Amino acid sequence: MPVWTPGSYLVREFSKSVERFEATTSGKPLSVTKTNKNTWSIAKGKAEKINVSYWVYAYEFSVRTSFVDADQALLNPSSICMLVQGMENNSGTLGINLPGRYSKISTALPKNKEGYYVFQHYDELADSPIQLGNHEEWSFDVRGIPHKVAMVGIHNADKTRFLKDLKTVCETMTDIVGVHPCKEYLFIVQNVEAGGGGLEHLNSTVVVMSRLNWKDESKYKSFLGLCAHEYFHLWNVKRIRPLELGPFNYSAENYTEQLWVAEGVTSYYDELAMLRAGFVKPAQFLATLEGYVNDLENRPGSKIQTLAQSSHDAWIKEYRPNENSKNTNISYYAKGVVVAALLDAKISSATQGKKNLDDLMRLLWKTYYNEKKRGFSVAEFEAAASDVAGTDLKIFFDKHVRSLETPDYQGVFNDAGITVNIKTDKRQVSGMSTALENGKTVVKFVESGTPAWNSGVNVNDEIVAMNGFRVNNDADDLLKKLSYPESSKLLVSRGGIIKELDFKFAPTGRFSLTLGFVKDKTSPALEKWLGKIN
Ligand SMILES: [Zn+2]
Repeated sequence: MPVWTPGSYLVREFSKSVERFEATTSGKPLSVTKTNKNTWSIAKGKAEKINVSYWVYAYEFSVRTSFVDADQALLNPSSICMLVQGMENNSGTLGINLPGRYSKISTALPKNKEGYYVFQHYDELADSPIQLGNHEEWSFDVRGIPHKVAMVGIHNADKTRFLKDLKTVCETMTDIVGVHPCKEYLFIVQNVEAGGGGLEHLNSTVVVMSRLNWKDESKYKSFLGLCAHEYFHLWNVKRIRPLELGPFNYSAENYTEQLWVAEGVTSYYDELAMLRAGFVKPAQFLATLEGYVNDLENRPGSKIQTLAQSSHDAWIKEYRPNENSKNTNISYYAKGVVVAALLDAKISSATQGKKNLDDLMRLLWKTYYNEKKRGFSVAEFEAAASDVAGTDLKIFFDKHVRSLETPDYQGVFNDAGITVNIKTDKRQVSGMSTALENGKTVVKFVESGTPAWNSGVNVNDEIVAMNGFRVNNDADDLLKKLSYPESSKLLVSRGGIIKELDFKFAPTGRFSLTLGFVKDKTSPALEKWLGKIN
């Protein structure tokens, strides 16, 4: 039984939900030994044909697990289907006995004449989520390829608008690599009370939307961005991929330093797609990019963890965050977006507007997916990027992927025709984030190097009073009203014991970058990077 679902880099121990396991031959039981947490060994003797039955409890709703109730079943085969060791590359068929309460089956797996779903190897089965229920099924096509939407749950979507916009999104993403490898593609849209997120698959995706958010313009656009993201993964990571991400070891962590290529580049493209498809204006795109850069540079973890380390340790850090994560880690998604933007700008300017990041994706597609039929190593990815840029990018990757240095925003973006203004704002901040819990103001995060950190405030402290004033929920608001007194007494309750802390205020430096276009001025590099602006 797999311990993880590809695309979500955390050991989830799916064997914990296996309830019974039996093996028989010609109706006679065979002896079964459990050899480790997720492996069953069958003494088959001379038996040529073995029947295996097992029961799995499925009641965890997420895009990475399986969930069954009276209304629907969302099945992620990696969380419920076992594989036979040594036979991972064998083809097989899947039969589904549809319970009477469900009327529909949606999956990207093809069907044979006998009505069974067919998979060429275990990876294909694991990578094909299955939706059972009474959902709506919508369809549209992208460059002649049939696409379906399984619309699960009650929602307030405008079907016509969504299908039109989704088609635009899919066409925009298709044009990046320029080749569509799917015979058919399926979006499983789960409409839930509150939630979001998605998971990519070979020929499908599961995406989650809050059921009544469809009429909220900004949430709707974010959802289109999510669809763009998961859809682009059908190229980037499902087919164009780091060497370590396939064939998978389903029994353990699969380490790679290139998750930033899989997730950061994809996240960059889902933002860029919104610009290319006309859903956002160029200035909004630059503002989004500024947001990514400023968040990154003001995150203490950016001075502790490199992009390569963040990718490698996803299993124990990104997927297992704690109250101190922002002080010590970065996200390979967020820094990946920043580095992908820098790389796109770099390629565009180095080639005087003849090439951009699309050309790198096309080269990787051709060389590794089409010809070599495998993933790429770090050195191969960087060599391909250098090839496209027509210049050695080793220093670029050393600096941005394997070092803690601040990227050369000014140099790279200026060369591509964007103005960059960087300053260090001195701001009064306490450095602690709080939340109201049962009427108490409780500390949730303390940023390293800030007044709260230096004064010894701890996560889980209840902030009671500051300089004799009761703190009600918003500590920062009170501090502002008190004009950030240089020296203060902070009363906290820590584990029920009242403590007085000396709180010293000093302005904290904040990295602040702004990007801009020069009016009526464009260049081949800028046009190749962001399209026609003026
Ligand atoms: Zn992703």
